[in-house]
Amino acid sequence: MHFNLSIAAGLATLALSLTFANDEARPGADSIGDPYYPKLGAGGYDTERYDLALTVDMETGSIDAVATITARALHGLSSFNLDLYGLEVAGIEVNGKAAKFTRDGRELDVVPKKPIREGKEFDVRVAYSGVPTPAPDPSVGGTGVGWMRKDSGIFVSSECIGAASWFPCNDHPRDPALFRFTVTVAKPYVVAANGLLVDEQDHGDTRTFVWEPKAPMAPYLATLGIADFDVVVEEGPGGIPLRTYFAKTLDARERAGFALQTEIVEFLELCFGPYPFASVGAIVADEDLGGALETQTIPVYGRGTYDDGTIAHELAHMWFGDAISANNWKDMWLNEGFASYGSFLWVEYAHGEEAADRDMRQRYRMLRRAKVGPPPDPGVAQVFSARVYERGCWVLHMLRDRVGDEAFFEILQTWVEAKSGKTAQTDEFLAHCEDVSGEDLDDFFAGVLFADVIPEDARFE
Ligand SMILES: [Zn+2]
Repeated sequence: MHFNLSIAAGLATLALSLTFANDEARPGADSIGDPYYPKLGAGGYDTERYDLALTVDMETGSIDAVATITARALHGLSSFNLDLYGLEVAGIEVNGKAAKFTRDGRELDVVPKKPIREGKEFDVRVAYSGVPTPAPDPSVGGTGVGWMRKDSGIFVSSECIGAASWFPCNDHPRDPALFRFTVTVAKPYVVAANGLLVDEQDHGDTRTFVWEPKAPMAPYLATLGIADFDVVVEEGPGGIPLRTYFAKTLDARERAGFALQTEIVEFLELCFGPYPFASVGAIVADEDLGGALETQTIPVYGRGTYDDGTIAHELAHMWFGDAISANNWKDMWLNEGFASYGSFLWVEYAHGEEAADRDMRQRYRMLRRAKVGPPPDPGVAQVFSARVYERGCWVLHMLRDRVGDEAFFEILQTWVEAKSGKTAQTDEFLAHCEDVSGEDLDDFFAGVLFADVIPEDARFE
């Protein structure tokens, strides 16, 4: 009897404390928990949508902007955190009511007038302005990443942590969201962005371009290209819109690779399964952007990246990196190794076996000679290193050799099916390879993926 009573009393206490826990609002975490970037992103909410309205002054480089962010509280929130680098915040409203906020470096803490209850959707309206500058990033060094103002216009390439250079966000691939970009700029400048161009308004001296991606997107994959472009509109693979924005100064030779975009996507569909988005295209700058980036549906290409191998690499990212996000930046090889292998597959198909053999032989020798380390968890300074790209690509080539073409492409296609719209990490991919192939691959991965140096292979010497 006493026993039963005490259980009843215990349950009553438990029920009471659960009720309190639900109602109790606390600050959202100021980090999403990526070990490479201790303060990056935030916790306590899930972003659903970014609605970004920007007026861009091409003379001064300044923007006047309002970001409306729709999110859902994962627990009761007394305050929450966004990332924003530089720029001046004029005011913040949460659900239409003025909110207090504080800033410390990239961290923007917002205290709503009333706490937000667990599970509730809420709107955050941030009015901000200033001249955006690239954000420092220990994975890249140099001048940083994000918004770049160049002589010919503005280009945005934000991997890994540059999205916060131009809009307040939960700046991590683990929290993708829908977007809309409404960008107003003086003539003759043209605005390119991710997704579909859904509206274009002419105000006389200025124009407003409205772009909308149809699928959720990680903040670092959001891009704008603003320049006096030559715009080429075509019907792309499977009849989807294909829009290519060429810098006017590019000649026919520099543009030639982009004529292959449809063929490349159709080829990659044979390898990886259906193209995951509703549009495709390119922003082709005649500027040094430090490379090209797989900005979703519309990669941005800097000087020296106009070859078909690079275009195939960026388009392969639409499956690996864009549709499937890395769970943490230490899993980067699941993006870059796969995109590099997509490029290799294109080379094999378009340039022949001999070119492909030469490519892999060179890769093997470099990996052995330079003792290039294992791809997973390379450390933040090596996120963009040969460990991730070249050895990641080698791992996939060896996997194909180990399980055969049929199982290999089955592995890739079912991986995309299982993981599109989700995040991925290395152990999940390894388990997936064993599931699909039906083979024990522990020893195989211990060598090619995890050993300090790739195993010797006489076929490539
Ligand atoms: Zn890449």
